[in-house]
Amino acid sequence: MSSQELREIIISGFKDISLVDVLGYPSFTIWFPYCNFRCPWCQNWPVVMGKELIKMSLDELVQKIRESALLVEYLHVTGGEPTLQPNALRLIYEESRKIGLKNSLNTNGYNYNVIEDLVSRSLIDHVAMDIKAPLSDPGKYSIVVGLEGKNNIPANIKRSLEIIARGVDLIELRTTFIPLLEPDDIVKIAIELRELMSSLGREDFHYVLQQFVPNSNAPDPKFREGTVRSAEELAKLARKAKDISGIKNMYVRSLEEGLTKI
Ligand code: SF4
Repeated sequence: MSSQELREIIISGFKDISLVDVLGYPSFTIWFPYCNFRCPWCQNWPVVMGKELIKMSLDELVQKIRESALLVEYLHVTGGEPTLQPNALRLIYEESRKIGLKNSLNTNGYNYNVIEDLVSRSLIDHVAMDIKAPLSDPGKYSIVVGLEGKNNIPANIKRSLEIIARGVDLIELRTTFIPLLEPDDIVKIAIELRELMSSLGREDFHYVLQQFVPNSNAPDPKFREGTVRSAEELAKLARKAKDISGIKNMYVRSLEEGLTKI
């Protein structure tokens, strides 16, 4: 599909300059609607449900990006799950390249075929991929993403990791420490990621442990309120996971302290 054919693009919103989406680099960030997961604790549920849709011409959106181009280094696309609109995603990345920006994708990693297509076209410079539970536990993974019994999710995510390990410069893997996970799960995820990424020759990946903050939009009321783990508690756990796994670049992201390297 050419940019001529896809004259309109449906997004949930955009931000001209964001400082929190790409590990220390400013980005122009776009939210794509809809998602193939149903995480009961989702922090972006209105976007997943397509409640905030903006129809724009591709040219109009590209013009907005162009206006921010001197102030940002990346175009970051997040959601929802951006890979559900592969043509729109590819076109916007191609346009961003023409402007001279780097491209960044935030994904849940399930649609490895879309990621493979983008990587094979050398369109992605930074991937932020969610690792929501231990990859060795497909049952738990399916519960955490609200698709109980769908047991092929870790296998797809591993394929995505293999693809980005081969073709993406900056790899950021993220786990949100939701109440469905135990501290031991975080350590397990860290060990699994280190082993896998190391076998793929990518010891340089970044792993971010993210604070879970209950929010009133979460689809399951259980996740709309409750206590928030402190940045200090997360840092202690991240340090333990780093020591045991041997991950080199470990971080905590929290509301109080932003992104902190451990
Ligand atoms: S938290 Fe889950 S449901 Fe929400 S956008 Fe991310 S992958 Fe989709």
